Amino acid sequence: MIFVAGRELTLGSKGVLISAVLLTGFVIGRQLVTLRENTRLNAELRAFSAELEQRVSERTAQLRQSQEALSASERLASVGTLAAGIVHEVNSPLGAIVSASETLEAQLKEEALDYETLKSILPIITRSAWHASRIVQTLRGYSRRSQPTLHPEILSSVVQDALLLMDYQVRSWTNVKLITEVDADSAVVVCDRNQIVQVLINLLTNARDAMPGGGRITLRARQTESSAVIEVADQGMGIAPENLEKIFDPFFTTKSIGEKSGLGLGLSIVSEIVRGHNGTIEARSDGPGRGATFAVTLPLAQ
Ligand code: ADP
Repeated sequence: MIFVAGRELTLGSKGVLISAVLLTGFVIGRQLVTLRENTRLNAELRAFSAELEQRVSERTAQLRQSQEALSASERLASVGTLAAGIVHEVNSPLGAIVSASETLEAQLKEEALDYETLKSILPIITRSAWHASRIVQTLRGYSRRSQPTLHPEILSSVVQDALLLMDYQVRSWTNVKLITEVDADSAVVVCDRNQIVQVLINLLTNARDAMPGGGRITLRARQTESSAVIEVADQGMGIAPENLEKIFDPFFTTKSIGEKSGLGLGLSIVSEIVRGHNGTIEARSDGPGRGATFAVTLPLAQ
């Protein structure tokens, strides 16, 4: 007998009540199964996402390693290019010196050396020796990396020094116009005068090299609140975006082996010098064929 609120239930009501209890039991049972299933799925999901994270970090580490290996091998390739460049550059003047002096020696032995031969052969020896010496000097300049001797200097006079030293060369450049816009007459920078002159000569020479067909080079100098900015802008062959970050690397060059000053050391020396002055150097280019601008920033004297 089943009593609800003190009254015995009829047979029909009992049936309904039992069905309700069974249904509730069924629903609770289902919910328990679903809950257990959800817990299992959550655990699986957590394990899967942990594994995924682990895989992502492994892949990232692998990628980083192969990137480092790639740039190391790129550097080695650059060193190989440099070595090939030096061998080629030094070998040809040395070869010329050897054969010229052997000719002189043979003629001396036979007592047949005449003034005309001497006059034509000696300049070959001198020229070739100077050429080899220039290569060695460049490399020596690179390896020495002397500390700058810093003094307060008037920026415009440092720029004038560089222009004075370049005057003869600039006049020999065909179809190249050099414009100077010095808007910082009274700016005083703390610098090693000779080194900054070397920086400007390098940048101007590179600008000319980038314009085999001629064009305009603009040398600008201006003053900001705490620094002086010197810019060398050209209308030359420009720099491909993938090369913009490599051009300051030692030995990076796009100039072919054997070409004048194609050792790829100029800009790395320049950036080393600028760093020694607590300054910065930046290269900008809109891409191949669209010119390039090099901006050197130096701190102003206090
Ligand atoms: P090098 O002149 O011996 O190649 P640098 O270190 O001076 O060595 O220059 C490295 C490279 O940077 C050059 O080979 C060239 O590709 C690029 N570069 C430098 N200056 C310019 C410029 N003004 N315009 C375009 N490319 C330039």
